[in-house]
Amino acid sequence: MSRVYNFSAGPAVLPEEVLREAAEEMLDYNGTGMSVMEMSHRSQAFKEIIETAEADIRDLMNIPDNYKVLFLQGGASQQFAMIPMNLMKNGVADYIVTGQWAKKAAAEAEKYGKVNILASSADKTFSYIPDCSDLPVSEDADYVYICENNTIYGTKYKELPNTKGKTLVADVSSCFLSEPIDVSKYGVVYGGVQKNVGPAGTVIVIIREDLITDDVLPCTPTMLKYKTHADAGSLYNTPPAYGIYICGKVFKWLKKQGGLAVMKEKNEQKAKILYDFLDQSRLFKGTVVPKDRSLMNVPFVTGDADLDAKFVKEAKAAGLENLKGHRSVGGMRASIYNAMPIEGVEKLVEFMKKFEEENL
Ligand SMILES: *Cc1c(COP(=O)(O)O)cnc(C)c1O
Repeated sequence: MSRVYNFSAGPAVLPEEVLREAAEEMLDYNGTGMSVMEMSHRSQAFKEIIETAEADIRDLMNIPDNYKVLFLQGGASQQFAMIPMNLMKNGVADYIVTGQWAKKAAAEAEKYGKVNILASSADKTFSYIPDCSDLPVSEDADYVYICENNTIYGTKYKELPNTKGKTLVADVSSCFLSEPIDVSKYGVVYGGVQKNVGPAGTVIVIIREDLITDDVLPCTPTMLKYKTHADAGSLYNTPPAYGIYICGKVFKWLKKQGGLAVMKEKNEQKAKILYDFLDQSRLFKGTVVPKDRSLMNVPFVTGDADLDAKFVKEAKAAGLENLKGHRSVGGMRASIYNAMPIEGVEKLVEFMKKFEEENL
């Protein structure tokens, strides 16, 4: 068996320790004689799994008591509809568009109400985060929406927008648990887990209790009402049980690493190795305004599409996988999530140096 360094943007690398533990427990979870995949979601064993997972994420993120943690399905994209269906009481929402995911979320919300685009960085291929300190927030906006880390373009908000008192809703899929955040600044913070936390198919929604009501848009399906899931402790129907189990193991792993403040340090250290190299390279160039750079997703280019393709191919042969950039940016992208060891980033930079010498 040999593992590669996997720089995929998602689904993405998970801690090897977690995968090994899951493998060991595959046939017999904790003396139950069955896999977590095979057990009732109403069983005592699963009850403990989901309750422990919730307690651990609450602890890791320091989630206040007046917030619910929901383990749902449908990925991050389902939230693009659930958010307006549940929160658009006035039928108005403000979106800040910093990439494809925020754009998709805004387009979905338009089906349900009036959407104002408060700011956008589309003019420069989403290579920066707009100044959000004094935006014309709509007086009747039900919420202000952002995508906090832009997986495709490699930008991240270093400061949250000034929402002028309006509820902030954030998609944190690709920076989930990568650093501490102040949950109390958000009304809803959510993420698909396959970027930094677990297997695809599970989305975690952290939502302030006063936003969970029966006053949702007419025709909202039962399954798309936050209240349905909040009232049932995420067990209204069969939840993504195996996904929740793996997330729970990742939470334990994060706690063992020292928690989110330690993860932030590690992530800064890893990203610095790559950005420092890019900043002095004669061949490779980062595509993002330095002050808005993501710690998680690092896009870069040579400026020559053929050379980019050669790089991706040779990197793969060297055990550095999934470095091809998103089709809308081109070039390369290294996603260096929590579970990417520092050795992986060092190997990548070593390989880039060698490639630069051979191809300049
Ligand atoms: C990947 C991603 C999504 C989409 O996630 P799905 O689970 O595939 O719906 C949404 N937002 C961000 C920021 C992402 O990185």
